[in-house]
Amino acid sequence: FETVNVLGLDFIKATQAQFLSQLTQDSLAHKNRFVVTANPEIVLAAKDDPKYAQTLATADYITADGIGIIKGAKILGEPLPERVTGYDTMEALIAWAAKNDKSIFFLGAKPEVLQKVLTKAKEKYPTLKIAGSCDGYFKDENKVAQLIKEAHPDFVFAALGFPKQEFFIAKHRELTPAIWMGVGGSFDVFSG
Ligand code: UDP
Repeated sequence: FETVNVLGLDFIKATQAQFLSQLTQDSLAHKNRFVVTANPEIVLAAKDDPKYAQTLATADYITADGIGIIKGAKILGEPLPERVTGYDTMEALIAWAAKNDKSIFFLGAKPEVLQKVLTKAKEKYPTLKIAGSCDGYFKDENKVAQLIKEAHPDFVFAALGFPKQEFFIAKHRELTPAIWMGVGGSFDVFSG
């Protein structure tokens, strides 16, 4: 994808549908990918924290998860087609995974929220393969990373909040080829 730089981050010029098509192709090709759906809070945090900005710069795709970013790109004369949110992307990928025999590792949120996510995902998508899961209040992140490696999922959804989820993904993504995506508070929404 072509990109547009808004406040230091390179956002992909893609519609939700184009982006999903790319991610499903990447998954079928067993690519290792790091996806950031950047909302305004993430953009501002990256401006204040060079280490976070450097981490985000290692992502394969950064999408505009906020109307302010779309407006900013328009002002810069390089419009982005539409918002591509973490929540919508996660839901669409769960549906696609269930149809295409791909597995998901759910990482993050409080234990009770995570349990609801797993229950709801299985109810809504009975064919979905859940490779594994771990709540977001762990002590030893290397152990969690090993758990993900052993589960060898096709997708890892990390709902640890920012910047934790992006630091986690950037540090551990090489352990197994998957589509790794930070999804912020999406588990709370999905479980509710
Ligand atoms: N979270 C987590 N571990 C942490 C901190 C947060 O799993 O150490 C989860 C939290 O339970 C919630 C999600 O991350 O499900 C998003 O948290 P928050 O609302 O604080 O962040 P944001 O949505 O602003 O990224």
